[in-house]
Amino acid sequence: LIEELYKEIPVVEALFEMSLLDTGYTDKVLGEAKNQMLMRGLESSQELTESRQVIAHQERRAQLLKQESMQDHLTGLSNRKQFDLTIEEEFVHARKNKWPLSAIFVDLDKFKQINDRCGHAVGDQVLRFSAKILDASTRDQDAIFRFGGEEFVILLPGCTVKDATTAANRIVNALQNSNYTLNDHSQISVTGSAGVATMDEHHTFNSPNQLVEAADQAMYQAKQRGGSQVIVYQENLEMSG
Ligand code: GH3
Ligand code: MG
Ligand code: MG
Repeated sequence: LIEELYKEIPVVEALFEMSLLDTGYTDKVLGEAKNQMLMRGLESSQELTESRQVIAHQERRAQLLKQESMQDHLTGLSNRKQFDLTIEEEFVHARKNKWPLSAIFVDLDKFKQINDRCGHAVGDQVLRFSAKILDASTRDQDAIFRFGGEEFVILLPGCTVKDATTAANRIVNALQNSNYTLNDHSQISVTGSAGVATMDEHHTFNSPNQLVEAADQAMYQAKQRGGSQVIVYQENLEMSG
């Protein structure tokens, strides 16, 4: 603006036959203005960088908090909240792409006795230990969730009932064959019962909830038959192991 005005001054001076400003003074004002503009520019680019850093930091924090809110603090597995979101998504994908979706419901056997005999802290350690066994017995693409207390659900997208049953047997056997060493070097073991339900061309489920309930029912049957075994859900409730 000052530069533009400066250009107009000689025209005005000629028109009125007078001198408005001496050149030295205008040059000084112009120089000062340029300096001010430069400083402002530097300040705002610094402020911009700082604001960007603050935003990036807050975004990372929000992402971390979101991850934490989906995680079970005791076992480090995904929690029930994450499970509800994931099964909803996988259910839609499986239906759309016509691939199977299997769920394995695992409930630890007589877990209350471990708490009663050894205390809640040991119970917590056994839960962590069981989560590790579940993790080691499943494929990377299978998601394990702590469904509640001593109950876990494994979701196996694209997995047939046959493969899901194999996976469930692997989990039940791994639990049965492992011993957990406590801090006082004594050993403790825990078994689990599993129910398998698969949505495929033979079994339709109207909602993700129905699929989980089917796997839960099958797990209950496994428990009824003495525990530490696998039962596959069938609609007529004539379930098989
Ligand atoms: P069942 O073989 O029929 O499944 O018997 P159970 O004892 O495993 O099942 P029940 O439902 O009677 O008891 C589950 C117990 O799990 C009771 C509860 O105190 C315990 N539990 C749930 N969450 C936790 C936890 O985070 N830590 C510990 N230590 N115990 C837990
Ligand atoms: Mg239970
Ligand atoms: Mg139990």
